[in-house]
Amino acid sequence: MGMLRDVPLPTEPIDRFAPIVGQEQVDRVLAAGARVRAAAPDRIIWNVNSTEVGGGVAEMLRPLISYARGAGADARWVVMGGSPEFFHITKRLHNALHGAAGDGSALGAPERAIFDEISKANACELLTRVRPGDAVLLHDPQTLGLAHPLRAHGAHVIWRCHVGTDERNDQTALGWAFLRDYLTDIRVCVFSRPSYVPREIGEERVAIVHPSIDPFSTKNQELSPDTVRGILAHVGLIGAAPGPTSFTRADGSPARVDRCADVVGLGPPPSAEVPLIVQVSRWDDLKDPIGVMQGFAKLVEGDAPPAHLLLAGPNVHGVADDPDAARVFDEVTCAFRALPHYVRRAVSLASIPTADVDENAAIINALQRHASIVVQKSLREGFGLTVTEAMWKRRPVVASAIGGIVDQIDDGVHGLLLPDPTDLDAFASALRRILADPKLAAALGEAAYTRARDKFLALRSLLEYAALVERVTRG
Ligand code: UDP
Repeated sequence: MGMLRDVPLPTEPIDRFAPIVGQEQVDRVLAAGARVRAAAPDRIIWNVNSTEVGGGVAEMLRPLISYARGAGADARWVVMGGSPEFFHITKRLHNALHGAAGDGSALGAPERAIFDEISKANACELLTRVRPGDAVLLHDPQTLGLAHPLRAHGAHVIWRCHVGTDERNDQTALGWAFLRDYLTDIRVCVFSRPSYVPREIGEERVAIVHPSIDPFSTKNQELSPDTVRGILAHVGLIGAAPGPTSFTRADGSPARVDRCADVVGLGPPPSAEVPLIVQVSRWDDLKDPIGVMQGFAKLVEGDAPPAHLLLAGPNVHGVADDPDAARVFDEVTCAFRALPHYVRRAVSLASIPTADVDENAAIINALQRHASIVVQKSLREGFGLTVTEAMWKRRPVVASAIGGIVDQIDDGVHGLLLPDPTDLDAFASALRRILADPKLAAALGEAAYTRARDKFLALRSLLEYAALVERVTRG
């Protein structure tokens, strides 16, 4: 069996953005697409990452590549393969670039040998498809071992690093030391924030691009209040009368939510009327799911209006390049069981089925729309896509003032930020403030929507990526 998997993608028209961002921006993207095409009509723009589903990168690639095609470029998506050992090492690197030790495992010569071996197997296949002169966007550390063979082959290589931290420590040093040699073959390295750029990379090779969302995706498309309730009641996350569960798939076809969530909780789900506090994340220590539960416990212990906490994440077997998920989910379940009974009654842990990507997205969409507060209490975050998704849905957000989140939210304007994400009292009081003040909740949600519309939609990133492709393929 081959290592690479092609992800088939539609060609999406970009003029649908005109009513949201204006015709002028649409025209600029079309002009950029035409220039890219005219410069080399046969050039393919490849994107390579390591999972088709789960996590922000997969989430972003789908619309960006589809719209790039809609703007006239021949853009494609290929997912590299790997062994459990390989993904263990790349998860360790992911943590290290976030400044975290993860499981503390080594990143030495044996790990490099495994990394190189898997990279080589993927490169062998990739080089049969990529032609000299093509542009290749590699995403995240998993793909960096492909840079040298691609460049030697005559491709123009861009590396998009989606992780990072503002601070340097021994872990970031370890991670970058491991990756340093692979970086020499990259023409331009793209980061989400200037502070994520390591010393190893000179500024002449750096570009900054903010991650973005697709307002028309299954994750973000409008859903009627009845459908929101219908979907959440069907999957078992709220108690409500059965209702419609229909949504539109990425390819435009109509569908219905069919599968149910796998829920850990006490008794029946919360009624639709109970305010729901939601964190949607992979099961990852850096998303601090246990801290969210413990902070919520402080809210329940205090004199707070009734509310229910829902931690939702992908089914633990659903994300190919995230080997920690099952362990983290087990630990979250143990921490849940250790909560006092009266707190546990107000908490649910939900594994959302991933067998059908669109269905998963429709369930998350409904959850984010139903949430009274969306939380992202991460300990590290390159950029929180879940934050932008919630902002687009006019939800009040409570999030950690770390990493890219501080570019997304101005505290008190587009949401509430937690200067110290480990301060559980501050977290509980931010939740309490919003629950007790519907006017504040609405004002934060409205400002959040405007911010997401103006700064974090896919069309904007598309323009930035087109400029990058022009930059690396020019002369
Ligand atoms: N997500 C999802 N299903 C899940 C959990 C998460 O589709 O069960 C999506 C979520 O909506 C968001 C992405 O995964 O689009 C997570 O991106 P983010 O930048 O928040 O975190 P990352 O996983 O990249 O660290």
